[in-house]
Amino acid sequence: MSYADTPITKLYGVGKVRAEQYGRLGISTVGDILSHYPRGYEDRGNVILLSEADGSGKSSHILTVGTEPKSVRLKGRMTLLKFKAYDESGVCDITFFNQEFLKNVFVMGETYRFYGKLEKVGSRYSMSSPAYEAWSEDKDLPSLIPVYPLTEGLNTKQITKDVNSAFTLANSYGISDDFIPEDIRIKNKLCTRTYALKNIHFPDSFTALAAAKKRLIFEELFIFALGMAMSSSKSVPSPAYPCSDRDVYPLVSSLPFELTEAQKKVIGEISRDMSRDVAMNRMVIGDVGCGKTVVAAAAMYLAVKNGRQAALMAPTEILARQHYEDLRTIFEPLGIKVELLVGATTKSEKNRIYASLSSEKAGEGTDIVIGTHALLNEGVKFSRPGVVVADEQHRFGVNQRALLAEKNMLSHTLVMSATPIPRTLALALYGDLELSLIDMMPTGRQRVDTFCVDEGYRERLNAFIDKNIREGGQVYVVCPAVEEQKDEEADLSVEDIDSDGEVRRVSPLRSAVKFSEELSGIFSNWRVAFVHGKMKPQEKNQVMSDFCEGKIQILVSTTVIEVGVNVPNATLMIVENAERFGLSQLHQLRGRVGRGSRKSYCILVSEATPESKAGERLKIMKTLYNGFSIAEHDLAMRGPGDFLRGQGDDSVRQSGGVRFKLAGFCDDAELMDAAFSEAKAMVETDNQLEEHPELRGMVERLFTLERGTVN
Ligand code: ADP
Ligand code: MG
Repeated sequence: MSYADTPITKLYGVGKVRAEQYGRLGISTVGDILSHYPRGYEDRGNVILLSEADGSGKSSHILTVGTEPKSVRLKGRMTLLKFKAYDESGVCDITFFNQEFLKNVFVMGETYRFYGKLEKVGSRYSMSSPAYEAWSEDKDLPSLIPVYPLTEGLNTKQITKDVNSAFTLANSYGISDDFIPEDIRIKNKLCTRTYALKNIHFPDSFTALAAAKKRLIFEELFIFALGMAMSSSKSVPSPAYPCSDRDVYPLVSSLPFELTEAQKKVIGEISRDMSRDVAMNRMVIGDVGCGKTVVAAAAMYLAVKNGRQAALMAPTEILARQHYEDLRTIFEPLGIKVELLVGATTKSEKNRIYASLSSEKAGEGTDIVIGTHALLNEGVKFSRPGVVVADEQHRFGVNQRALLAEKNMLSHTLVMSATPIPRTLALALYGDLELSLIDMMPTGRQRVDTFCVDEGYRERLNAFIDKNIREGGQVYVVCPAVEEQKDEEADLSVEDIDSDGEVRRVSPLRSAVKFSEELSGIFSNWRVAFVHGKMKPQEKNQVMSDFCEGKIQILVSTTVIEVGVNVPNATLMIVENAERFGLSQLHQLRGRVGRGSRKSYCILVSEATPESKAGERLKIMKTLYNGFSIAEHDLAMRGPGDFLRGQGDDSVRQSGGVRFKLAGFCDDAELMDAAFSEAKAMVETDNQLEEHPELRGMVERLFTLERGTVN
């Protein structure tokens, strides 16, 4: 057995309880814990004077103890240890609760590095229970301390300790498992796996961390790419019912508008695919509002016209309902029966729909069913499957699609994505699908005027919000964070260290919860609410539907609202800390407004100077409005990370259903290209990876793990 497969219970101090806690993080072996990468780092090496701290987060200070530590007894059995420590700029009161033993640790006249939140009241500084290390001129303290993703019962300190023991154990085996062949590693200037693991957890420097990150990102992409290449090299086309009648005229002529050229082209591609006796596997990609729904409707219409059934699966109940309403208006006049099946559908109603779907005769029973994951329920059986459409596909894993396809033997599959993505990247990520792009908008769409502003505009911005609402509009405010920085929060996220080892120091992030409180205070006439990914689905739905109905005027949120909700009355989109978002993400957000007849605006609030890289990116938003061109810029300027991470909910990092650990932070498009081309070359000569059993194991693992992820 290699160290990687050794159960974590073999680590010193890890017993049954701790193993269970680790289990919740998906960690059961020593290999797993070593790939439980930090989500960020405490920047303790960035030592500043007391007078230099701006109070926004934690800071690191080298201070000399100036008074004898004194312990005071508080209520009950609580004790408080107090002393003063100073640097050349000031004196700081340091306190610890219930750690009386520290009295013998801190020595008057000695110097320590303290790290924590520095409070300043008047001219007095204080720190409560800071982290500390003895310091001296010739001692080399680590600058970067890892902060880990946590679960209840496990804190960063504990995980750090266990990661350390994992390294000790791995070293005793000799970590020499570099499963990336050496020629590939050297050609792509990658460090070894041993070096990478050590430095992702305990970086010696920012440069070492950048090298580690590069190597581990390559590794992840390489394994993903191997899997994609292997599956496309052996995939056998599955049979499907040929819908030979390709006439969509009755549907098209019933629409209140003329189709765009792009829509016509894509419907042509679909009807050609569906007329064959092998299953269509096509993805339609197009900006929000480009008109994907009618394209899906055409596919469903063709199925029904050929005596078959169609299903449309949406990622949320709200979306499913919206589709149901829209499609019913299209289909009912044509005599086609549409049903809605969602989690909230009553049991008897469900049973009725199940029975109607399994009815054998065309012309009787349900032709089209629209729903959520509820469609994956066992009771759903199609008697005459024709086509399955998955909307906003990035929300579904590959295997959920597969599950739906499996239920519907003989069915064609169409997936729709509202994330315009550069073609090269789409080919890499969705290599198993044919692609159709809708790269134009219906005529007459108004453009959402976009502005970049900084804090100096805050008052004018507030006046503008008020004006929009008084004129009958509604406002979205998007913040990058859910809550205020918490104690366990890192100073630097993995994302902040770029491929050259440079560090992006960022301004404090606005949080949705806090900012919504602030706005409630300012706009006491209007109803302000917030919504974010950590809320219960029911609460979220309630807020969203109140916003849809106009009961809420200002909706503060994280990026959860990206997912296709349609509120035509929303006229203003404000994005706080806009520099934190990818261009494509900003474009998606902007697409939430300008959906009705009112003139709409998008305001990007950022402190990034116009000359900075982030400022340059934001400027692009003012001039470009086509999602595909924006995506190309995004890829070139920020790398493929945002696309790999998926662009929906903040908590979901996935691409084609695979969750990446670090690849979502990849800022280097060439690194990704290299990983994909190396993988392709390898599979061309050895399509089952017989010569690389470890790699094969990794591929299997990545793609089976995915099977467990349902979100
Ligand atoms: P999305 O691609 O985001 O799913 P939808 O299909 O919801 O976009 O379409 C957005 C709106 O545009 C809908 O109200 C739809 O009826 C309308 N629409 C679609 N195609 C056209 C067209 N060719 N001309 C005018 N309006 C259209
Ligand atoms: Mg849509």
